[in-house]
Amino acid sequence: MKPRITVELASRVKNLPPYLFATIDKMKQEARAKGTDLIDLSIGDPDMPTPKHIVDAMKVAVEKPEHHRYPSYEGMLSFRAAVATWYKRRFDVELDPGAEVLSLIGSKEGIGHIPLAFVETGDVVLVPSPGYPVYPVGTLFAGGEIHIMPLWEKNGFLPDLKSIPWDVLKRTKLIYINYPNNPTSACAPRSFYEEVIDLAATYNFIVCHDAAYSEIYYDNDKPISFLELDGAKEVGIEMHSLSKTYNMTGWRIGCAVGNSDVIAGLGKIKTNLDSGVFQAIQEASVAALETDDRILAEMRNTYQERRDVLYKGLNDLGMKVIKPKATFYLWTQVPAGFDSASFVAHLLEKAGVLGTPGNGFGAPGEGYIRFALTVPVARMKEAVERIGKAL
Ligand SMILES: *Cc1c(COP(=O)(O)O)cnc(C)c1O
Repeated sequence: MKPRITVELASRVKNLPPYLFATIDKMKQEARAKGTDLIDLSIGDPDMPTPKHIVDAMKVAVEKPEHHRYPSYEGMLSFRAAVATWYKRRFDVELDPGAEVLSLIGSKEGIGHIPLAFVETGDVVLVPSPGYPVYPVGTLFAGGEIHIMPLWEKNGFLPDLKSIPWDVLKRTKLIYINYPNNPTSACAPRSFYEEVIDLAATYNFIVCHDAAYSEIYYDNDKPISFLELDGAKEVGIEMHSLSKTYNMTGWRIGCAVGNSDVIAGLGKIKTNLDSGVFQAIQEASVAALETDDRILAEMRNTYQERRDVLYKGLNDLGMKVIKPKATFYLWTQVPAGFDSASFVAHLLEKAGVLGTPGNGFGAPGEGYIRFALTVPVARMKEAVERIGKAL
């Protein structure tokens, strides 16, 4: 036999935080193998298909030979212009498509890559917790130091910026913020963004606002864009995604918009690591960004109906439920006597309902569970019934 190599994983991979969802995936497989009729509320992925007019636009675009070649890393001007038009219409924010908009292969790509452009070994990145795991991992891959900003319920799941020590702020290069928030479903008021902008300007660091859920909102209460605020474009960018807004998670397209220097820095990484988004997808995305508001309102109504069933159901069962104003998640404390993991396991075993343990999003999420509103309303009703019996 020929010798087999034994190259060890790089420390940046070996030192990754444990993937807590691996346990869940295993539990899920076991439940399915036992024949459980599983109601899976653990998935942050829309269950509804991409709207037809977008799929139709893709069919036309994919036939065009000019789209079969390498795209430009920064995106087609037509796509970037459509993003700028969308921002103007939705938020009344002006963007220069040439310098202030960059296409992304899903916003996850931009979120993960931005520290590579600006963070040196030992520089600090401010990371909300519980939060999207890509913020800490992107930081670690770039050699940065993570400073956790816990999101507590008593603070409306906003970080307490005043509690960040001065010597940390001095070394900070980047802050991630994310509202409407995954997993807590919290929204941020204007005053919070103002505070972030002042802090970033004072200590000279970049603000990266992840706005993936800006279009999934309830009761007509529209979230704002970070870029609506005075001074925002001086200090930062917003990452946006077509994934959640248009049920396009599989298509892999998003954008970064805002401060032109930050956009250029991120673009430098992209020119060297990837070659942009398939142009047919960009062309279909122009159709997506022009989607009739009535279609989006219908999608929101669907989520709202599910939210109302789950919120009322769990509330009636005596759980301390927070009513989501946005996102397709419901974040709630687990009942007394449980922690996140044991409650998830209990619901799976006794009810065949799967939620996500809050501590999987970071230690401050311990004691919570996240339910995704990504199953039809009839299944949601059934989930509530089964949870009632399991409690
Ligand atoms: C889903 C999600 C994204 C978007 O991911 P894409 O890569 O654009 O599909 C970004 N941030 C958060 C918090 C998310 O939940």
